[in-house]
Amino acid sequence: MTTRYSMRLPELESLIAMLGEPAYRARQLHEGLFRQRRPLDALTNIPRALRARLAGELPLAFAVDMTLLADDDTTAKWLWRAADGAQIETVLMRYSARATVCVSSQAGCAMGCTFCATGQAGFERHLSVGEVVEQVLRAQHASPQRVSNVVFMGMGEPLANTDTVIDACTRLHEDVGISARHLTVSTVGVVPGMERLTDFDLPVTLAVSLHAPDDALREQLVPLNRRYPLAAVLDAARAYAERKGRRVSFEYACISGVNDLPHQADALAGRLTGFRGGAHVNLIPLNDTAGYPGRPSDADRIATFAERLRAGGVQATVRRNRGTSIDAACGQLRARTP
Ligand code: SAH
Ligand code: SF4
Repeated sequence: MTTRYSMRLPELESLIAMLGEPAYRARQLHEGLFRQRRPLDALTNIPRALRARLAGELPLAFAVDMTLLADDDTTAKWLWRAADGAQIETVLMRYSARATVCVSSQAGCAMGCTFCATGQAGFERHLSVGEVVEQVLRAQHASPQRVSNVVFMGMGEPLANTDTVIDACTRLHEDVGISARHLTVSTVGVVPGMERLTDFDLPVTLAVSLHAPDDALREQLVPLNRRYPLAAVLDAARAYAERKGRRVSFEYACISGVNDLPHQADALAGRLTGFRGGAHVNLIPLNDTAGYPGRPSDADRIATFAERLRAGGVQATVRRNRGTSIDAACGQLRARTP
């Protein structure tokens, strides 16, 4: 489907030609929408009548269902609705000089991780490349700071929609001008997708969601572990680090009494060896969800876990949960909306 951000320059040139307009209008349009990141309405170098025609030819993919602000308005979350009714969410995190956008790659997710609100709700459909790019640009329109980073950590499993995610990364880099290293693809460990990303020529950052130091526990939290066990996931991550010369990071949602015990930190450090650039673990307290009884670890427990990782030679960062008051993480807003 053609939407506002689904076309690259050659397709925009065909559209402009079809409308009987001079070719330079396509370059103005492309430059304004993508490189300058301005809304179509604000492209005053294009005559108003043409902008109105373009608005009809290039409809937005999403209507706003809901916008929420938190943390002194430095975190914003949108719940969008596509024409077919699919709902997805996007989060904008603003810092003093720049901003990060967290995008969804699918409406829902088929991976079924037990602690994840998106996984609890199931899979609806893949998003298109235009829908991914639209999330970034519409968040940019609401941000005085330049969007410098994009993380694929919203709804969905990016490496279950790999063609789209690779295409979106290419466009965000080439058309929108975001550094490839500042594009982060987070995966639950879809090994064939990780291999494809290894062969992709842009040095995007890979994050792998681990949540457990052994297969027995990981299977309970992440059903996909039965298909791609920890050893295979870590081997694919090592190959990625080697090929790209980049540090790989790991996400670890800390669940009280389940995966946050000191001996589990030691076991995790023991498995994260042999990574070029070292392994880096982000520790995030679990967000409560309706469908999972686990509780977030308390701060002391997480700090101890981080220390044990460091003692084992693994870099560890304790992440503050931004936007918790608006459920700005992991499919929780949609889960609450009928
Ligand atoms: N499907 C991908 C990316 C989207 S989820 C993945 O799983 O990596 C983004 C991150 O949020 C993942 O690390 C995921 O494990 C984490 N997450 C999901 N539900 C969570 C919850 N309830 N609390 C804390 N982190 C959660
Ligand atoms: Fe899907 Fe990621 Fe949630 Fe697992 S954690 S269900 S892979 S979105």
